[in-house]
Amino acid sequence: MKTCHRFIRIKTGHERHIQSVLSHATRHPDRPAGKYSAKQSVDAKRAMARALNVHLARCRECG
Ligand SMILES: [Zn+2]
Repeated sequence: MKTCHRFIRIKTGHERHIQSVLSHATRHPDRPAGKYSAKQSVDAKRAMARALNVHLARCRECG
C-alpha cells in the first residue's frame, strides 16, 4: 500500500504520543497515574487507527 506524507505525519504524531503515554505507564505500573496512562495508551491507539482510517477514506494519494 502506498501512503502519502500526510499519512506518515499523522501516524508519526500519534505514535510519539502513544510512546510517551506508554513510557509513563511503564515507569509507574502500581500507581493510579500509571494505570491511567495504560488506559490512555489504549485510547490513543484507537484514536490513531480512527484518524488514519478517516484519512485513507478521503485521501486520493493513499491506496
Ligand atoms: Zn494520504
